[in-house]
Amino acid sequence: MFNEHLAFNFTNTSVKYFHPDDCPILQKICFTVQDKNFQANFGIQNKEKENQRNEAFTKVIDQGPIARDSYQNLTALQPELPRETTIYKTKKRINEEMSNAIPILILNISNEQSLTPIHKNPDINDPEIIEEVLKYIGKAGYRKITDILLYILPDLINRHVINPDNPIINLRISGDGRNVGRKVKHVIITCTILDDIVNLYKANYHYTIILYPGTENYKLLQRMIAPIASELDDLILNGLRDSNGTIWTINPYFSSDWKFMAIVLGFNAPNSKHFCLWCLCTKENIGNKHKVCIIEKNMDQIKPAFFDNNSSVKPPPGYIKPPLLQMIPLNHYVPDELHIMLRIWDRLWNLVLHELKTQNQFDNLTRKKIIAEMNRISVSFQFWQDQGTQNWSYTSLMGGDKEIVLKSFNFGVVFNEERAFLINHLWRDFYQLYNNMKSQKTSPIQFANQAKQWLDLFLTSSEGELNSDTFKEGLYRPKDVTPYIHVLVHHIPEFMKQHQKFGLCAFSCAPVEKKNHDQVSAFFRKTMKDGGKGAERKSAIFEILHYENRSMYFAQKDTIDKYSKPQHIHIKKLKK
Ligand SMILES: [Zn+2]
Repeated sequence: MFNEHLAFNFTNTSVKYFHPDDCPILQKICFTVQDKNFQANFGIQNKEKENQRNEAFTKVIDQGPIARDSYQNLTALQPELPRETTIYKTKKRINEEMSNAIPILILNISNEQSLTPIHKNPDINDPEIIEEVLKYIGKAGYRKITDILLYILPDLINRHVINPDNPIINLRISGDGRNVGRKVKHVIITCTILDDIVNLYKANYHYTIILYPGTENYKLLQRMIAPIASELDDLILNGLRDSNGTIWTINPYFSSDWKFMAIVLGFNAPNSKHFCLWCLCTKENIGNKHKVCIIEKNMDQIKPAFFDNNSSVKPPPGYIKPPLLQMIPLNHYVPDELHIMLRIWDRLWNLVLHELKTQNQFDNLTRKKIIAEMNRISVSFQFWQDQGTQNWSYTSLMGGDKEIVLKSFNFGVVFNEERAFLINHLWRDFYQLYNNMKSQKTSPIQFANQAKQWLDLFLTSSEGELNSDTFKEGLYRPKDVTPYIHVLVHHIPEFMKQHQKFGLCAFSCAPVEKKNHDQVSAFFRKTMKDGGKGAERKSAIFEILHYENRSMYFAQKDTIDKYSKPQHIHIKKLKK
């Protein structure tokens, strides 16, 4: 009765203040009687709206991610929030709906190999995560590319990313392995739509096809990638038929760091005589600045050697095992721009440290100066001595910090003016080159010239007689050139030209790395487990793929993640 009265009064009073066309509606009133809280809701509850609200909450909780018990604590503080069980049910409903569209399969891959220790620094070092990841060795999660494509197709067409009148999809496959502790890697293989250029830098638009904890080697990857290979074969041969009967042509691409790509291609190690995936250059010639190399190997030379028993054709040098994804043309294997920068940075940095060491200058004072210069440019950096070997290690910097060093580190703190000028010049020019490489506006011909000039600078030879006044010290030797430098100078301009439609940035693996890192960090934690019992208690692999399915659901449904804020009115004292 009391509430009906209030509603009646609101309607009567509101006409005095608002225009009836503005439709003022009383939604709810909160009040206290004898310390007891009441909330009166008015009008009919809109089921659909309620559902949307629950989905919006589920999305935000997913993206947090916020653990179940943490959310329960929040609802205890704020009773207006949807109940935790409501969120759980919503999540379950979306999982079921999505499992029909994109089923999640768990593959059991017996793992005969023992884990080999990883010598590089771990990407993830949380003991709880490492323990959890190790439990899932031998298992892999798999979602079919076809299911993923069919699900995202309507949205891509709606956004005019692809066109049913010219049904072509440029599909990029990528791979990434994170070091989890020092024993195991967490490997994912993803796909994305190259045509969706504006979204390519977002991790959410790279869809996981396969994920597994284990080693990143040929034998294991061969088994893991087999379902993808047969699916891709079929998609390329027959196209993708959508629900309207349109048949889409699939153009496949592959991008990853060098190591992953070499494994997928069945290629030998980067320190072998024939080190290059794309050309016939040999180790002896890697630093020959007069040599011009072009992409000259191709799948048509590789395929008969490994897949045609009647053929006596030899594979191009360096190709030692059957490629795992032979349906992708070799010039569609595009190196990742991020790793080109990261690995060339490592080489440049090692050359600087090497120079200081050979001149007996790598002492406490020099190390202090380096750390101080790093501090000046806001990069946190340390040196420390390894136990046992007494070797000096240093902070391994992330991409962003490496860029800052390229741009701003002044080598004048450890070298004389002339030397510092030369080395600073080399670092700044490389920074410029890296930015030009990423920009779609860069002309490939111009880039080729710039890259060549940079290589010439890198290889600046000494002039004049040693220990005389005329002596001018050069920079580095031909054998200091690495495969990544070779690729930057010789092949990147060609890749830029061939794939200018998308830009080299479209092949960046940074979002795939981020996805892998974030998912491992979030889901291999006990607190993030679903908490259900028995069969409901799912593995982390399942959890990750369900999570991905849900995020695709939210993207398709365009689930909102914020409501417009109400205007708050605060009346301190009521007039009598
Ligand atoms: Zn080459």
